[in-house]
Amino acid sequence: MYCPFCRNADSRVVDSRLVDDGSAIRRRRQCPDCGRRFSTVETTSLSVIKRSGVAEPFSRSKVINGVRKACQGRPVSEDDLAMLAQEVEENIRASGVAEIDAHEVGLAILQPLQRLDQVAYLRFASVYQAFESLEDFETAIRQLREEAARGTALPAGAQRPLSAR
Ligand SMILES: [Zn+2]
Repeated sequence: MYCPFCRNADSRVVDSRLVDDGSAIRRRRQCPDCGRRFSTVETTSLSVIKRSGVAEPFSRSKVINGVRKACQGRPVSEDDLAMLAQEVEENIRASGVAEIDAHEVGLAILQPLQRLDQVAYLRFASVYQAFESLEDFETAIRQLREEAARGTALPAGAQRPLSAR
């Protein structure tokens, strides 16, 4: 590991600790040449298998690009999208898999997106779960209302659904 300060080709590990509930190791390193310290983070590689069968590294920015369109015109900030992508990655890593189908990444997005914005969720779900009819939308909306009525999926400050007023 090159020293990022002086490009020396060697560094010494001075401390290692588990982070993110054990899904990563953070190492504190010191350059024996210039004496400065820097950190590295080691995680298992997580591959996404595309429909073509090609594997590529999991990418948070691809998750964000995937949901951005569904969030158009909605009160969703770039920070919200970054946090959603982080949650998706943490959930997938927590499940302990080393590779995952691209379609399953889409499914892993559904729940955090539902909490973030219900309209964006419906748009996204209609594509990923291949809604084919109005009934599919009605079913999804009914589920959202039932969860909201139970108080499990309603974000703070969100409006009650019409049926609950
Ligand atoms: Zn150095």
